[in-house]
Amino acid sequence: MTALLADLHLHSHHSDGVLDPAALMRLVAARGVELAALTDHDTTAGCAAAAAACAEARIRFISGVEVSAGWQGQSLHVLGLGVATDTPELVAHLEGLRAQRRARLLEIGERLEKRAGLPGRELAAGVCAATAVPTRLHLARALVASGRVRNEAEAFTRLLGRGLPGHVPMEWPALEQAVAALRAAGATVVLAHPHRYRLSNGALRRLIGEFSAAGGDGLEVSVAGMSPRDLDRLATLARSSKLKASTGSDFHDPAVPWNTPGRFAKLPADLEPVAACL
Ligand code: AMP
Ligand code: MN
Ligand code: MN
Ligand code: MN
Repeated sequence: MTALLADLHLHSHHSDGVLDPAALMRLVAARGVELAALTDHDTTAGCAAAAAACAEARIRFISGVEVSAGWQGQSLHVLGLGVATDTPELVAHLEGLRAQRRARLLEIGERLEKRAGLPGRELAAGVCAATAVPTRLHLARALVASGRVRNEAEAFTRLLGRGLPGHVPMEWPALEQAVAALRAAGATVVLAHPHRYRLSNGALRRLIGEFSAAGGDGLEVSVAGMSPRDLDRLATLARSSKLKASTGSDFHDPAVPWNTPGRFAKLPADLEPVAACL
């Protein structure tokens, strides 16, 4: 039996993706994906439209969300897969995150104005007016559009990353709270892209231990664009922690070629796929 091609990490224009949910799911289906989850940052607003598009394209759909969380001063992302989108505890949790995002974006704008001599207030206000989930990627795109940086990557490496003029440290809800809000909505809970947190092996093992103890179900083991070495490291951690393994592209934008929907390495055969329990 061959494993399902499951892309369980996708963004629409309800957060920092560029496609509307229906166009996104048509693309996902055309790429051969058999099971798709919409996982916008801090909102489930696109799930109904995405579900309808998947029904039309005859592929399976899972309502999901990617929430921000804090652990030992580090910002993390946690995926909830199979969420009941009207669960009051989840709805309140997501509203809180979006309010934090708006305040953060305006503060980033202030800092860009004061520390980098950029029209940060105007750019941040424009982003906040245009989206309910203002991310740094929106601001990066606005900086590119205004000619202040050449591309999104440069916005992060020159202005928005840690230690740079536009960086605002965040206190997101603690990891345990994030997991609890997702579990209250019936989700399978997955730690997103653990290789991107730049943690030592020891710290990553501690994080995964606490995530599992808090009720986490799985690790995102295969993500588009990751190195074989990272996949191997995460597969080893999934085995030792007895967590399930998830797959996804983290697709945002058709203009970005390295994370096409459905294009990521297969999971090692001995791991238990998250997709099999959804
Ligand atoms: P935020 O959630 O507001 O901190 O914004 C983070 C989002 O920006 C991520 O979900 C990615 O989509 C995107 N992102 C983060 N780092 C980079 C980078 N170096 N280059 C391009 N996009 C990035
Ligand atoms: Mn994003
Ligand atoms: Mn993420
Ligand atoms: Mn993502």
